[in-house]
Amino acid sequence: MNDIANFKTEAAHSEPKFSRFSYNSFLTLPTLRKSVMTAYIFISFRSYSLLMLQTRSIGRRFSSRETVEGAGVRLRRAFGYSELPLFDPFLMLDDFRADRPEDYLLGVPWHPHRGIETVTYMLEGRMEHRDSMGNSGSVDAGNIQWMTAGSGIIHQEMPKPVNGIMGGFQLWVNLPRSHKMMDPRYQEIAWDRIPVVEANSGVTVKVICGKFGDAIGPVRDIVADPDFFDVSVLHRAHFTAKVKRGYTVFAYVIGGEGILDEAETTVKNHDLVIFSDGDNVTASGIGIKSFRFLLLSGRPFHEPVAWRGPIVMNTDAELQQAFQEYRDGTFIQKGK
Ligand code: MN
Repeated sequence: MNDIANFKTEAAHSEPKFSRFSYNSFLTLPTLRKSVMTAYIFISFRSYSLLMLQTRSIGRRFSSRETVEGAGVRLRRAFGYSELPLFDPFLMLDDFRADRPEDYLLGVPWHPHRGIETVTYMLEGRMEHRDSMGNSGSVDAGNIQWMTAGSGIIHQEMPKPVNGIMGGFQLWVNLPRSHKMMDPRYQEIAWDRIPVVEANSGVTVKVICGKFGDAIGPVRDIVADPDFFDVSVLHRAHFTAKVKRGYTVFAYVIGGEGILDEAETTVKNHDLVIFSDGDNVTASGIGIKSFRFLLLSGRPFHEPVAWRGPIVMNTDAELQQAFQEYRDGTFIQKGK
């Protein structure tokens, strides 16, 4: 815990430093006037940028595409390896809402993870889970499992339809070099612990992680300092969320139609939008159906990424070591 707290403190923005003004050597009228002007421009620019909050516009727009994972699971990938490093600190987002649940029943049999966090958010059905530490259970509809693989977890994930339906998402969040080998842990959150905020008339925000208004999401102490909201916006309703400047922010549309920028680009189910920098994100619903999207924000790590399958490290040597340990049976370092 302390590690994470320190990490955040170190990353805080440092204030600009002024060089000491030397009176004797500098104090002639023109230089004084120039300094006063410079200070004036600097101060007014700073207060201007503090007062004028900038709404983020759409940087790039994608659509999730079909892919095959695990033992033959068909799913839609919103982004992944091919988009590196655009979504830093996020690595991947898979959408496994099923038209045909039989596409998913094979699941993802035993596999290792190291250096990342995998986040499973179920909308329908359930995900049965079992790991090398002897944990087993299921992520039921509306629930979330935030698994920090850290130094290593070997697990299997088996989706199960309930009443013939099954669907959810898996997000991969990177860990920085300082935390890749942290102890593995789980945050398992039942749906009734997730605050639901009625923001404006017609806007509903499920706060899974991070802060929205006065609500704080139940997932805590994540190194990437993420916000994770599940947002629903009715026809003509308007949503605004404050986001941190310099953070990566994206939205993945999971229902209805709406707009996410001042240019009023229409986005719909399966569309993915990454925002340019700014202080807030806005959304409006335009269709009869509620406009629903996942909104994610996180602090980029700006570190080299060495990624092979379910293991993501900083260097190829670290990758090779991880796979060697997996073959040798020494992969699990904590909680055998
Ligand atoms: Mn996995």
